[in-house]
Parts: sequence; C-alpha cells; structure tokens
Amino acid sequence: MTGSKERRAGEKIYGFTAGARAGRPGRGRRSLHAGYISRVMADASLTALYQDIILDHYRRPRNKGTLEHASISVPMRNPLCGDEITLELEMNGDAISDVRFTGRGCSISQASTSMMTEMVKGKHVAEIAQIGERFRAMVMGDAEAAADVTLGRARALAGVARFPARVKCALLAWNALERGLAESAVQREQDREQDATAREI
Ligand code: ZN
Repeated sequence: MTGSKERRAGEKIYGFTAGARAGRPGRGRRSLHAGYISRVMADASLTALYQDIILDHYRRPRNKGTLEHASISVPMRNPLCGDEITLELEMNGDAISDVRFTGRGCSISQASTSMMTEMVKGKHVAEIAQIGERFRAMVMGDAEAAADVTLGRARALAGVARFPARVKCALLAWNALERGLAESAVQREQDREQDATAREI
C-alpha cells in the first residue's frame, strides 16, 4: 500500500498530538483517521507534495526574527493547541514594507505564519485583505479558493479544512495580521488628525 508513508506524515502534521498535550487525549481521533485515510487513497501524491511544503516552511521559516523599526507588534495565541506568535509589521503608508515573526507551536501554525509573511510583504492593505479572505475561505473548505493561484504555496494548507481543530492553527497568523493592520489604520488616522491640528495652529 502506497498510502502508509503519507498517512504517517499526515498524522504528524494534522494529528491530535497537540490536543493530547492540552489534556484532551484521543478526542475525535477515530473519525479523524477514517476520513483522512480514505482521502489519502484518492490524492496521495498531492497530499505528499503539500506535506513537504508545510514541513519545509516549518523547518526553515521565512521572515523569522524581529524588526528594528516595527510600526506594529501583535502577540497572538491559540490556546487550543498551544501555538503562539508575535507578528511585527513595518508600514509604509497603506503598504507592508517589511514583516517578521517569532513564535512556537505546531507545524501548521508556524508554516502558515511563514507562508503568510511571504504573501503580504510589499503589498497594499486592500490586496492583503483580499488574499486573507481567500485563505480563510480555503481553510474553511471552499474548493474554489483552494484552486486560487493567488494563494500560491499556501494552498498546501487546504487540507486543514478536513480537520476543524486545526483551522485555528492555520488562521493564527492571519488573525494577528488583521489586528495589526487595524491598529495601523488607527495610527494613520491619528497621525492625519495631528497633522491637521498642527496646520491649524
Ligand atoms: Zn496548532
């Protein structure tokens, strides 16, 4: 059977080891396995490719570290799994000029954060909001979003939709980004008001 190798790798990525660590051993394990195995039989090679991409980002995270001149710093946790990240953004007007993250947690959360930083660096907030919306749709099971080339290698995380407990892991980075961009918008608004007041004086 060719599926066994992929199945073991899948368990490592999507499995419930993190849930067990949080004191909920084995919850949902049986149905998780049955569903996963049947699907692996159908798309083993794609699954293997996607797992390689996820593990590559987990082991060699892109944009990991801190920024010297961060405009925004957002800590974000996923207590369900024990994932935590701090996302730092350097803004240039309405665009992200640079981005870094630190953190630890499961492979899904850390790989998703690494992929997210690659996707948003240098982009305008309007474009980022669109990408974020597509990514959210994909991990919630939207097949059309999962085929959207604008999501690039992040489409490797489409399989998360089959594991509801892992969706929060995949969205951790995007939730942090959303909060960071909201804070940045408030900052820019305050700056504009201060400029306006200064001109009046
Ligand atoms: Zn996680």
